Amino acid sequence: MAAILRALGVGPGDEVATQAFTCLAVPEGIRATGATPVYVDTEEQGVNLCPRDLSAKLSQKTKAVIVQHTFGIPAQLSEIRSVLNERGVPFVEDCCHTLASTYVNQVVGTFGIGAFYSFEWGKPIVAGIGGSAVVHDPALRAKVEEHWESCHGPSWKSLLKVNLQYWAFERMYRPSTYWKVRATFQKLSKAGAAEGNYHDPDEESHEFSQRMAGPLVERLRQKLTSLNHVVENSRRIAGLYDEAIDRTRFRRPAVPEGGLPVYARFPLLAADKERLLARAEEARVEVADWYRTPVHPLERREWGAVGLEPGSCPRAEKLSDEIVSLPLSLKVTDEDVRKTLALFESL
Ligand SMILES: *Cc1c(COP(=O)(O)O)cnc(C)c1O
Repeated sequence: MAAILRALGVGPGDEVATQAFTCLAVPEGIRATGATPVYVDTEEQGVNLCPRDLSAKLSQKTKAVIVQHTFGIPAQLSEIRSVLNERGVPFVEDCCHTLASTYVNQVVGTFGIGAFYSFEWGKPIVAGIGGSAVVHDPALRAKVEEHWESCHGPSWKSLLKVNLQYWAFERMYRPSTYWKVRATFQKLSKAGAAEGNYHDPDEESHEFSQRMAGPLVERLRQKLTSLNHVVENSRRIAGLYDEAIDRTRFRRPAVPEGGLPVYARFPLLAADKERLLARAEEARVEVADWYRTPVHPLERREWGAVGLEPGSCPRAEKLSDEIVSLPLSLKVTDEDVRKTLALFESL
């Protein structure tokens, strides 16, 4: 993302608008260019950028907008496009949660000037650590490629650590071991023994000039050959959740008209999120809590470090307090689905 923004000429003194209810990696990428992130609130009923609030938050300094398709739900691309076309501001799509969702029969990632993808833990395709950028404009693409040429891969130590983590995760994680694996990963991350997803916002970042390691790219290529299988599996399990959840008191976030999501995870809203999570842990049912804050995982007192003023995006704050999500990966068995639905029906 930082490479695309830099190629667009984004730098110190500029603003890049992005939605609140995102992960720290996004403002980190914006700040790596020297620009300031400006936070746009989420939709009234949804998990994505609100086009009306976007219009209100644009300024003379806005050089680009990041449009995220949260959980795989497509953003309101028509509305966003008309707001931005009027002002001549380009947008980049954050496709970290989906490679296959469509909006009016067109796959997401093809609407903006470019898009970026991530293949780390918790994403639809996991290769280890790394991501990719797609740039549609040839001149802009040449600049991003030039930057890529100047980047180097991670150290062998870091690659070894990521690979060990990858294999441990592959062996240990299943929806039924989710809570245990999560606790272990958090402990290791804290001790610095695992590559976590996030960094201290005050720390100088050095990852924006690093390439994805060759062996991980190879693994990614391999895994992408079964993308259809991953997509079909996600659709099938989401279908099972869908029907049953509608009979419970839990609501789902809105999908915009014309949007056909291929979910990374199946999102739900729970007014009593903490209680639900506690019950899920007891029942060994995988229910994830992210994003727990509008700039996950930063606590309220840390928001200032990435330029988010508390109270400026009230819907995103409320959403963070209520959102949970269910797994849709290839590891989910019919028995997991049954247990999950039994839990939700009992609450
Ligand atoms: C994971 C994620 C990112 C960042 O991915 P990295 O590979 O950690 O840089 C960006 N945006 C969203 C919405 C994500 O979920």
